[in-house]
Amino acid sequence: MTYSKKITATLKQKGLKEGQRIKIGVYEGLLMPSPEITGSPDYLIIKLDNGYNIGIKYTSKTKLEKSNTPEPEAIKQEYLYETMDQHVEKIEQAHSKPPIAILAVGGTIASKVDYKTGAVNAKLTARDLVRMVPELRRIATIKMDTLSEVMSEDMNHVHWQTLAKETAKQLNQGAEGVVITHGTDAMHFSSAALSFMLPKLPKPVVFTGSQRSPDRGSADSSMNLICSVHAAKNDVAEVGICMHAELDDNYCIYSRGTKVRKMHSTLRKAFRPINDYPLAKVWPSGRFQMTNRRVKFRSTEKAKTDTKFEPKVALIKAYPGSEPKLIDYLIKQGYKGIIIEGMALGHVPTQAKKSWIPHVKKAIQSGVPVIVTTQCYYGRVNPDVYTNLRILYYEAEAIPGADMLSETAYVKLGWVLGHVKSMKKVREMMLTNYAGELNARLEPRMFLY
Ligand code: GLU
Repeated sequence: MTYSKKITATLKQKGLKEGQRIKIGVYEGLLMPSPEITGSPDYLIIKLDNGYNIGIKYTSKTKLEKSNTPEPEAIKQEYLYETMDQHVEKIEQAHSKPPIAILAVGGTIASKVDYKTGAVNAKLTARDLVRMVPELRRIATIKMDTLSEVMSEDMNHVHWQTLAKETAKQLNQGAEGVVITHGTDAMHFSSAALSFMLPKLPKPVVFTGSQRSPDRGSADSSMNLICSVHAAKNDVAEVGICMHAELDDNYCIYSRGTKVRKMHSTLRKAFRPINDYPLAKVWPSGRFQMTNRRVKFRSTEKAKTDTKFEPKVALIKAYPGSEPKLIDYLIKQGYKGIIIEGMALGHVPTQAKKSWIPHVKKAIQSGVPVIVTTQCYYGRVNPDVYTNLRILYYEAEAIPGADMLSETAYVKLGWVLGHVKSMKKVREMMLTNYAGELNARLEPRMFLY
């Protein structure tokens, strides 16, 4: 951000520049640049001799003059440090390193401990993150932007739409790849959403985060960021998640955005590919080893977005003794599509006292598609093996979700219903592979990869 026109004109008129010592009434200190994200262009920021920055609202009455008192050396140093990014960016542009955009969205990777409460919250900007990991500048020319400070569990389709549009914009403005720093808890919902919302993607889009905030000794954020920037420079043009592969800081795995899940609430190696191999292994040194045969490569096409989305989609779970009237309730509430996470091959209570079958049938007859995925996560739903399955898929006409993750199916159904309404079309699109979400060939080695 730059100062307001009024401030800029006054500074020019008085021959004053950022980095000079100025006097504003009783305050004296070094004039700082206007802060990039927070703050207002109408406030002059000065660094006092005690090191604190203060903001003083500029009005027509503000008295602004040059100070002749010498600036303390420590303050000059601190100013250099705080404005280092701008200098480094200029130098970087002179060297030809691939431009990579980092978009910060929030989550633990953008968090630090708040000593007032003892709790961790999202406060760090993309610039702060890059400052904490200066190695990134040796790998790429980094362009940073902070989109929000939201935790991933608080996100919805509107965040995904904004993120998709901003990502496409960065790619079309010259970034070779985009890294998105994001909360980990619901990161695989966002990676699935962008996989569908950025069709025919020409360059890599790499989500990353951390399980420990960057101000902790055990933080995994630096290595995840470094590996992600390497992945964003590489040739696999897919939306993926790049996080620690092991408990130690050895290497990361970069997994397809529709085939990845957070499988542990705290471990650093929580993100695992499901029903797929990772796209690649990425080392902090920059070594990039492809580990998947079905990948999409970089192209020179423009990035496009397709963000139409129907948010009235629900994800529910069927289990022994569960209440099928949930479906009736959802329909009453105006839901347009339902994912049921069923058991194993895709079972719901069928001959049980509280059978789900009449409720599924009613939903489908009233035009609300019901898709069934598996609570096993690994493997696929199969409509044929048991009598109960045949009743659900052939009589009630539920749509089997094949080997799709429930979260991916949930996001995909919202995206599909944003485009088509008829049951036939929804079925067809749900069973068409758009972003690697369906894998015809599941191999035993993919299990617990
Ligand atoms: N619940 C927060 C989120 O997902 C913090 C967890 C994390 O980033 O690891 O954004």
